[in-house]
Amino acid sequence: MQSKSKPHRTHLKRHEVHQVIVLGSGPAGFTAALYTARANLSPIVFEGDQPGGQLTITTEVENYPGFEHGIQGPELMEVLRKQAQRFGAVSKFETISAVDLSQRPFKLTAGEKVYYTEALIISTGARAKLLNIPSEQLYMGYGVSACATCDGFFFRNQDVLIVGGGDTAMEEANYLTRFCSSVTIVHRREDFRASKIMLERARENPKIKWRTNQEITEVLGVTDEKGRKTVTGAILRNTVTGKTEEVATNGIFVAIGHAPNTELFRGLIDMNELGYIETKGKTSFTNIPGVFACGDCQDHVYRQAVTAAGTGCVAAIDAERWLAANPMIYGYVPTHDVTDEIMEEEIPHPA
Ligand code: NDP
Repeated sequence: MQSKSKPHRTHLKRHEVHQVIVLGSGPAGFTAALYTARANLSPIVFEGDQPGGQLTITTEVENYPGFEHGIQGPELMEVLRKQAQRFGAVSKFETISAVDLSQRPFKLTAGEKVYYTEALIISTGARAKLLNIPSEQLYMGYGVSACATCDGFFFRNQDVLIVGGGDTAMEEANYLTRFCSSVTIVHRREDFRASKIMLERARENPKIKWRTNQEITEVLGVTDEKGRKTVTGAILRNTVTGKTEEVATNGIFVAIGHAPNTELFRGLIDMNELGYIETKGKTSFTNIPGVFACGDCQDHVYRQAVTAAGTGCVAAIDAERWLAANPMIYGYVPTHDVTDEIMEEEIPHPA
């Protein structure tokens, strides 16, 4: 529910109001930026705390269509960024700390600066929850992964651990058995949060082993003379007895849930109980006209780079059509004959 509030300011200058601002710089954000840039909407992309998004912390990406031989995650994001910029998208590396979506143009605050936009595309993504132990960070992308779909293939005929006791852990454990020799589920309790059916499916899989009442306290590995890191094992702690034990493993998958990066919008926009932004049907429309959402911040099911990019395209097309149907109050279409006087002209806020 949006509350009625005072106009942001009684007068705004045309040049202060953007047509489209994209929040987030993963595959969804840059695809939205690419399409809106090509639609002549001059998008501004706020890249956020993790420019390039989650793919910048993976190594090789082999399942993004168009790259026959795969591509490194950070490189893919650089290509997507440059592709959007080629058509006029502009990146900003400021952190948006507050948004006011109660009226159009929407107001975004970054420190001392304020930005206004006629349409807002939210593509702030999600983050995998992690164990938060220092060695996990050290080996992330080198044997530690938070995405079985992305990285399982690299562990063919190897033994891996997967941490978690929910549906994601069960599903990913089953998936990993397609490649791995064995998959050991490490869960901190005796009981599982996973649904009965998912748990049963995992229990029936002969390649899956179980270690309950255990948690990983340290990831073990080696670094060769070229600086390449490899995971070799983990230290497990029994959560009941406190006893620790070293186990050998080639990889560790962390599957303890995801959290959408939507804190900024809490209470301002409709979300589900997990904090994912609600979008209408197959569109990117949120409950607020002019605000669109795409990528992992609104999808906890598929969570792939390519599906995120697809929904980024949807959001851009939705925003473009919505702007055409709801002519801009302040925004201007930058053409060569826009004079400085027009840009500086002040127009009263309608509210
Ligand atoms: P959940 O929150 O359901 O489960 C997270 C699991 O990780 C829990 O077992 C939890 O343990 C454990 N965990 C959390 N933090 C830590 C930690 N720091 N150290 C060790 N273990 C930890 O997340 P999921 O991602 O599994 O599922 C999210 C939602 O998505 C659920 O609603 C699920 O049903 C749904 N889903 C559905 C699927 C399907 O239907 N096919 C597939 C995947 C997900 P504890 O239980 O002790 O808290």
